[in-house]
Amino acid sequence: MSTPFRSLQRTEAEARAALLTVESYDVSLDLAADEATFGSTTTIHFDSLGGPTFVDLKPVDVHRLVLNGRTLDPDTLDRGRLPLETASGPNELVVEATMRFRNDGEGLHRSVDPADGRHYVYGMSFMDAAPSVYACFDQPDLKAPYTFTVRAPEDWTVVGNAPATNPEPGLWRLGPTQPLSTYFVTVVAGPYHLVRDEHDGIPLGLSARQSLAGALEADAEELLTMTRQCFDEFHRLFGIRYPFGDYHQAFVPEFNAGAMENPGCVTFRDQLIFDTRVTRGLKMSRATTVAHEMAHQWFGNIVTPRWWDDLWLNESFAEYMGVRVTADVTEYADAWVDNSYLRRQWGLTADLGPSTHPVAGNGAADAVSALQDFDGISYAKGSTVLRQLAGRLGDETFFAGVIDHLESHRFGNATMHDLFASWEKAGAGDLAGFTDQWLRTAGPDTITLDRAAGTLLRTPPAGHPADRAHSFRVAVAREGRWEVERVAVDGPETTYDAGDAPVLIDPFNDTWAAAVPDAATVAALPALLPDVEDPALVAGAWNNVRTALHLAQVDPAALVDLAVARFPVEDTGDFPHVAVPRRTIPWLFQTLLPLAPAGSLERLHEAVVGRLATLEAGSEEQLAAFRAAIRSASDPDLLRRWTTETPEGIDADLDLRWRVLVRLAVLGATDAAELDAELAAAPTAAATVEHTRARASLPDAEAKAWAWSRFTGDVDVPNYELEAAGLGLWQPTQPELTAPYVDRYFAELPGTAAVRSGWVLAQAAEAFFPFASLERSTLDRARALLDDPALEASVRRRLADCTDRLARMLAVAEAHPR
Ligand SMILES: [Zn+2]
Repeated sequence: MSTPFRSLQRTEAEARAALLTVESYDVSLDLAADEATFGSTTTIHFDSLGGPTFVDLKPVDVHRLVLNGRTLDPDTLDRGRLPLETASGPNELVVEATMRFRNDGEGLHRSVDPADGRHYVYGMSFMDAAPSVYACFDQPDLKAPYTFTVRAPEDWTVVGNAPATNPEPGLWRLGPTQPLSTYFVTVVAGPYHLVRDEHDGIPLGLSARQSLAGALEADAEELLTMTRQCFDEFHRLFGIRYPFGDYHQAFVPEFNAGAMENPGCVTFRDQLIFDTRVTRGLKMSRATTVAHEMAHQWFGNIVTPRWWDDLWLNESFAEYMGVRVTADVTEYADAWVDNSYLRRQWGLTADLGPSTHPVAGNGAADAVSALQDFDGISYAKGSTVLRQLAGRLGDETFFAGVIDHLESHRFGNATMHDLFASWEKAGAGDLAGFTDQWLRTAGPDTITLDRAAGTLLRTPPAGHPADRAHSFRVAVAREGRWEVERVAVDGPETTYDAGDAPVLIDPFNDTWAAAVPDAATVAALPALLPDVEDPALVAGAWNNVRTALHLAQVDPAALVDLAVARFPVEDTGDFPHVAVPRRTIPWLFQTLLPLAPAGSLERLHEAVVGRLATLEAGSEEQLAAFRAAIRSASDPDLLRRWTTETPEGIDADLDLRWRVLVRLAVLGATDAAELDAELAAAPTAAATVEHTRARASLPDAEAKAWAWSRFTGDVDVPNYELEAAGLGLWQPTQPELTAPYVDRYFAELPGTAAVRSGWVLAQAAEAFFPFASLERSTLDRARALLDDPALEASVRRRLADCTDRLARMLAVAEAHPR
């Protein structure tokens, strides 16, 4: 049961920052005593102007509270806050407490590796979890240096935000660090396997669970090479040395996000250490994530937003720089193509949805509401806007402004206004018009071709008046040959005469807009797309038609024709499994197929098997195609054969085995006993999650109840298993079995806020949402629940987005009945 902690209000943060200057944190953690809890002693030295304030603290138990030598009453601790009457001048606060290890990916997460029973711990303080690890003034603009003392079992290794020493077995000391914000303080502790190296005077480290030691060793060269290349490039671009000592990249279990940029000790989800064969798309996602987190060391860690409303800038900047640097200096020169597949629809869907918000200046009254804006808008739209700005200013001015910003606020905090002032100082001119249109106005323009009138139409987002100037390329197929032309659209109608030729609007993501192809273009694509060689244009074509389907402006049958003509094996990174698909192949299965005419699954399966036969053995595309063939197969005998006999170039590894088992489970061609036996034979962490997905997918009432008990919290499972249970439960082919859970979802969702919090609370709301129930009545139920004022804020936000997706799918279904 989680306590309803109070979320820090912006006004409270401003008052506390005006009152206090934090000099240092000394944090002592005892991780060796117990498996459920840990000891946490914090000494904070701070200066105050004198007067009342509070420290943030979320303990299981408090043992000692001493402010300036005077003992405080633990009973005054109220919903995560301990009131303090500070003295004018220097103060010392000592807090001795017991804290709980968590299994939801936040605070100090402790997990047990099912492969060998070893325990692993890591800290995730973002965005307001730090007080469940140590007592602190938890806001981004009260930075201070930290020293850590960590007691841990003797076979553990401890890494963190500064180089560690190990003066005696089981004892580790770290720091003092550079000044850090609370949200990126971390400690990673456990019997991790470590790889160490060095580059340009920077000690480099990699770590992962022992059961991934071999895989880490195999991946180390690629990871370290990329890290070196990116350091050189960031040093060249910024002219400012990386200042946090060691650069450790820790791959940790059950991590919610892709990664977290903790200074000196970045944490990644350890599914990014590959112990089975993966596709190039996934390796490229990992590469851009590595570069993204490195970009944060400058932008976010050296200079940190004063308040959460500027976190978009951290993410937009890291996203833009991460992809740019990956494309420019690593082996993944095509990183922008992958970015087009992975991020474009994520951002557009968010920006077209009911929760759209401006990129910047959202106010973010408190930390919980700020977390809700951490979406495709902050990453994909923001980065596209920064890329446009960099293009407009030129690298020289763009980086001169960034460097001025980093130097002016080194180890401190700043705002968006500070950065734009630095750009203006660097010669950018007045950027007010640009920021108003692109950063302060929500929603995308929609750009369509009126072929008869010979015009490109620009429609501003409803309810968000905008007058944006777009400059982008179009691809026009004249007599079967694609020609690329640049157009400027700076009014509601722009003359553009393409004759009869098919036109793809903004396929290279030059601008930010919902680009919708006309019916003639969509009809021509199945004949044209198979011959397109430019991978960026193929990605652009898929983004065009996906946007058209999202806006119910295309017949899903036409898109099945397109997928049959050229199954999109180029978008190879079908990972991780998410309820709302970002990449194209998952989108085909999860969004298009439920709307497509009967027989479409069989046509897609035939098409992908046909494509499979033509692809080079051992290629990434072959693997992507084979996975799609498994996912679309309806013949249990064929699936069983594929567990032992695979096409040349593909090994039947554990990943593929579980993909087959999940598909067999959906078809009802396996049972819980077989799945349990498969897991027992190779109980890896990945297999544990896939086992959950498969068990929840079985077409029987017991399986659905088994999945549901995880949603309600009756059975407590870690974050990945929770999500897999939800995604497995809902199968469009099992409507009778899942029908009772439509009502139960809306009745029981509000209560989940009492059993979980933070990231997983909203994540579970999405994973268990009844997307498979494409019914008006389901939409009505969802909308009725949204009207409930008591609904927890993050649940409401996620529910609103899921409801929008369901409404859009229903709009297509009603316009084009199957
Ligand atoms: Zn980031």
